[in-house]
Amino acid sequence: MDYQLSPLEVKIQQDVAAFCRTEIAPRAKMLDSSSRPEAGAYMKENLKMLSRGGCLEAGQSGDVIDLIAVYLAGEEIAKACPATYLSARASTFLCAGALRLFGTPDQKQRYIPDLMKAERVGAFAYSEEQAGSDIAAITTVAHKDGETWLLNGDKNVVVNAPIADVFLVLAYSEKDAGAESGMSIFICDKGAKGLKIGEPVETMGLRGVPLAGISMNNCVAAGILGGTPGKGYEQITRILTMGKVGIAALCVGIGNACTEISVKHSKERKTFGKPIGLYQDVGFRLADMFTINDLGRMLALRAAWAINTGEHEGDILAACAKLFASEAVTKIANWGMQIFAGHGYVAGSDIERLYRDAKFGEICEGASEIQRSFIAKSELDKFLPR
Ligand SMILES: Cc1cc2nc3c(=O)[nH]c(=O)nc-3n(C[C@H](O)[C@H](O)[C@H](O)COP(=O)(O)OP(=O)(O)OC[C@H]3O[C@@H](n4cnc5c(N)ncnc54)[C@H](O)[C@@H]3O)c2cc1C
Repeated sequence: MDYQLSPLEVKIQQDVAAFCRTEIAPRAKMLDSSSRPEAGAYMKENLKMLSRGGCLEAGQSGDVIDLIAVYLAGEEIAKACPATYLSARASTFLCAGALRLFGTPDQKQRYIPDLMKAERVGAFAYSEEQAGSDIAAITTVAHKDGETWLLNGDKNVVVNAPIADVFLVLAYSEKDAGAESGMSIFICDKGAKGLKIGEPVETMGLRGVPLAGISMNNCVAAGILGGTPGKGYEQITRILTMGKVGIAALCVGIGNACTEISVKHSKERKTFGKPIGLYQDVGFRLADMFTINDLGRMLALRAAWAINTGEHEGDILAACAKLFASEAVTKIANWGMQIFAGHGYVAGSDIERLYRDAKFGEICEGASEIQRSFIAKSELDKFLPR
């Protein structure tokens, strides 16, 4: 067993970390405290900066997604600014990645280069007010009018919706066929007839993320992802499975940021004549923060490797990584807050922002309960040593 990253992977990690430390991290606080319309403009700048810094293309070229490289770059972007990572990921992984894996040659050529250069911004709208965990319960439908697909329905929270130029939208194209063969993913361009972007949605954390609902009233779709209807369930399952590694990157990145500032604070803050890090209670907290975050990274990289190499258990490992890393980071942020104590609880401190951001991982794209159910239903005995 070899835990070494390849020289190229190390370079990706170091280059993205260096760029994000100087260019993205200093903007995180401003993004968090901006109003949502302002944040949209700042986020577009951030995405362009990430593209210029070579951070968005890591692990993605041609028809291939190398999840290890995507993870490594993602962790560093998330450490610098979790909101920027979530927005970048929605555009260049969920949207451009789905186009890369499933799009027709024409769709790939039309959208991917601009999305990767951040000339255009992408979004992925699948869940709905009454259909978060249970994707099959969506009510958005599509029907054909001549050669054109028209969409009807609402999506209540979509990352990047206020700034997006391209939307991938999950809908039933044949409701009677059921979820597995009756769903399709449609491509909708900004400004399409019948597409309306809702008011900005406010959130507890990740406040810099441009977020809104969309509503579609006979919205004219530009096409079906891949060109063939009925493939939506398979496509969304695959991209969201790979996406679990990306959510683990978000969580581990936040965990790194919490640990780093907590270590620094514990060296600088003195009580009773000593740095607080010399007290065993504080030192043990830091040790636990580092340990469980590193475990989250190892699970995520193992899952990324399994998916890259086509191992059958990749989907289970991805669920384990997302579950563990997301539950770890809420503990890490909580312990970090305890180390900062009153200095952390005041609004505007970095640990306060990270504490609010951290909770998202346990909720999004299959909450912890859904991951546990999925893992529990899997054939776990095949993982046991024989
Ligand atoms: C900031 C933010 C950004 C988002 N961005 C997007 C986006 O870009 N695109 C998009 O499509 N969606 C997006 N979403 C929606 C997100 O994917 C859903 O919120 C998420 O899937 C959880 O769904 P829900 O909130 O409806 O929870 P529910 O499905 O209502 O679940 C509520 C609780 O019940 C539990 N539960 C449900 N079913 C079961 C079960 N069978 N067994 C055990 N427990 C169960 C859940 O685990 C959870 O704890 C976003 C949400 C937020 C908050």
